[in-house]
Amino acid sequence: MVIIMENGATKEQIEQVVRRTHDAGLKTQMNVGEQCTVIAVIGDKTALSDTPIESMSGVSRIMPISAPYKLASRQFHEEDTVISVDGVKIGGKQLAMMAGPCAVETTEQIVKIAKYVEASGAQFIRGGAFKPRTGPYSFQGYGESALKMLATAREETNLRVVTEVMTPHEVGLVGRYTDVFQLGTRNMQNFSLLREIGRHGKPVILKRGLSSTIEEWLLAAEYVLAEGNPNVILCERGIRTYETHTRNTLDLNAVPAIKELSHLPIIVDPSHGTGIRSYVPSMAKAAIAAGADGLIVEVHHDPDNSMTGDGVQSLFPDQFNQLLHDLKQIAIAVGREI
Ligand code: PEP
Ligand code: MN
Repeated sequence: MVIIMENGATKEQIEQVVRRTHDAGLKTQMNVGEQCTVIAVIGDKTALSDTPIESMSGVSRIMPISAPYKLASRQFHEEDTVISVDGVKIGGKQLAMMAGPCAVETTEQIVKIAKYVEASGAQFIRGGAFKPRTGPYSFQGYGESALKMLATAREETNLRVVTEVMTPHEVGLVGRYTDVFQLGTRNMQNFSLLREIGRHGKPVILKRGLSSTIEEWLLAAEYVLAEGNPNVILCERGIRTYETHTRNTLDLNAVPAIKELSHLPIIVDPSHGTGIRSYVPSMAKAAIAAGADGLIVEVHHDPDNSMTGDGVQSLFPDQFNQLLHDLKQIAIAVGREI
């Protein structure tokens, strides 16, 4: 449930309500909005049955949140969340553009691609150092040395870094190099990893699980939020359906659904969503038209020789450049900027 304070409730009144809730053994999280303060009560609310919170001074009303996720819900936080990554905002008027190879291969490769995508207007370089591969004999990523290559790409450009973290014990290491964690589709329900990222505090792109419902995805976000990290960016990257022509089925329904149910920003990955290079620009444009807050796109200057199989879905740099150019008109049509 959430406790909605009156517009103009005093600091003391808010503190009293929080104290009363804590005394009942429950946790709280506060959202100080423009209109009023909302206090989310986390835990079994029957603990408050003997405590008449409604009649406390400064309290406007109490509202149960029917969804199983609370902090991720629009009821808790009415306004859109805008996440700032070193000055670049995700979830505001400006669209966030993230691009780069599936995996970091060499310093030359990542620096070269970073410079290309920056020149086209991206604000983030993406690239995997730890790769979650389906088979154990496939290239698994260069680990910390790839993180150092990403650091060089950051130094040589004005880009922020996005890279995947796969295990809770690597959160500290990856967090020393990245600006934004990527939590991949295969790990969406790795609850100890979600909790560790929640405790770390850096922003995280939470990819939708391979076959997850929107509710399961928002509950995964809730794990991060409940640990006190409000910086969750959802990423629709396609789900598994009976269709095999494309690698996944990009579920663009998720964009308006998330916008209705949650205040968290949502970006779209048209590369894994389609698995086919020639489909990526169409789905990228559709995602922005649907209201996504940004894109994460695989781009490689030599995709035929990329070290993961994802070359087939990677745009050439000039295609990415053209895409960002074409997106300008779509952005204007939906009240956004690129
Ligand atoms: C990736 O971004 O390269 C990746 C492995 O993504 P996903 O977790 O969506 O498959
Ligand atoms: Mn990939």
